[in-house]
Amino acid sequence: MNDVRLRFAPSPTGHLHVGGARTALFNWLYARKMNGKFILRIEDTDLQRSTRESEMAIIESLKWLGIDWDEGPDVGGEFGPYRQSERVTKGIYDHYAQLLVQKQMAYYTVYDKVDRKKPILNSFEYPKSYAEQGHDITVSFKVPEGITRFYDLLKGDMEFQNSTIEDFVMIKSDGFPTYNYAVVIDDHLMGITHVFRGEDHLSNTPKQVMLYDAFGWEYPKFMHIPLILGFDRTPLSKRHGATSVEHFRGIGILNKGLMNYLALLGWSVGEEEIFDVKTKLESFDPSSISNKGVVFDPQKLEWVNGKHMRTMEVERLWEEFVEWTQFTGKKVPQIEKEYALKVISICREKVNTLSQLYDLAYPFFFDDYPYEEKLIDEYLKAPYAGELLKKALESFSQLDDWSVQGTEKVCRSLSELQIASKNKVFQLLRGTVTGKLVTPGLFETLAVLGKERVVERIQRTILQVKN
Ligand code: GLU
Repeated sequence: MNDVRLRFAPSPTGHLHVGGARTALFNWLYARKMNGKFILRIEDTDLQRSTRESEMAIIESLKWLGIDWDEGPDVGGEFGPYRQSERVTKGIYDHYAQLLVQKQMAYYTVYDKVDRKKPILNSFEYPKSYAEQGHDITVSFKVPEGITRFYDLLKGDMEFQNSTIEDFVMIKSDGFPTYNYAVVIDDHLMGITHVFRGEDHLSNTPKQVMLYDAFGWEYPKFMHIPLILGFDRTPLSKRHGATSVEHFRGIGILNKGLMNYLALLGWSVGEEEIFDVKTKLESFDPSSISNKGVVFDPQKLEWVNGKHMRTMEVERLWEEFVEWTQFTGKKVPQIEKEYALKVISICREKVNTLSQLYDLAYPFFFDDYPYEEKLIDEYLKAPYAGELLKKALESFSQLDDWSVQGTEKVCRSLSELQIASKNKVFQLLRGTVTGKLVTPGLFETLAVLGKERVVERIQRTILQVKN
């Protein structure tokens, strides 16, 4: 049996969209499950829209997701992607186009020199004299009569009347191939056995199938996956908010969390919702992918992510956190690991993303935390604030037992002084040491911060409290 070979073939015209990432994931999963090969092919033949920046951004996102590929030109000891633009210069697409012209299954078109959209001649012979005079020339596929059929793994038997499909350009006047043509040449030459892609390509497939037939090549197995939808059930796009992998990385979604959520978009893994995609290879079955559109729900993504954040090794989460601060250019805390791990452990209980974690953990890591406005207005400006903080300073300075129980005892005795209600006392203390009114448990927070920080912060806040 031939090994399976799959590919992801993005056009480098923007960031990697979550829909593209899901396509890449499904192809990759199947290649990995079947011990086959997965390749990355950059489809950059649209010179106006393709950029190297987009290509780099897509590759960076794929690497971050952990989607790796098995072949490609050597770039500094790793596999680079295949690029269609490089294959153009090798003459690959021209060569096959000419084969079809020779069989009279494709033809040249000459365009008017002034009205460059206006065809003036079709010919099976190369229109040399026109070329020499500088006319634009294209090569088009001659759509045969009849019916084009193929089987789709999700949709079953597909049938298209060729009469509804017009002849289409294979080689443009700039010498570059069109998508529908190049994709067939490359999928064939690269031995691709399965093509899983978005349903938006379904109407392209009959054209591609006709080309396979014209060359007498076997076609890969096709699967067209319903598109990811926005909340209004139209295809997910920028109108629905940010959709790039890079965006979700930026707001602090873990790669594991994103992969998990993408897998849930169409693939029913079973009852389980939270898993490491890499451990589910065996159960990945393309035929179990849903043929219904699925709605992208950023809140669910965050929820899935939060579950991963709380169940993974704290140490791993800390590493991810540091990497993320570097990726986003945020200030990186320079602190002892042991302390960092304690902070991460208590803060992760309350958040779903790394950026939420960053905000919540900020006062544990840095002294320059700001005071929330509500804290200032309702607590720091309160008549009891000064007196209470002085008492707090006294008690905490004398406390030796910096355990959760130890700090709790002090907090409770401060609330029994009749200076203010328990709630007010606790909120004032919480705000004093973190600048925030919502934090992990107050006693834990104090215990983790430790005596030195707590005492210093109370002193500092006293100076800011007028009364
Ligand atoms: N370059 C095409 C795209 O980005 C690839 C489609 C395909 O997988 O055939 O949509």
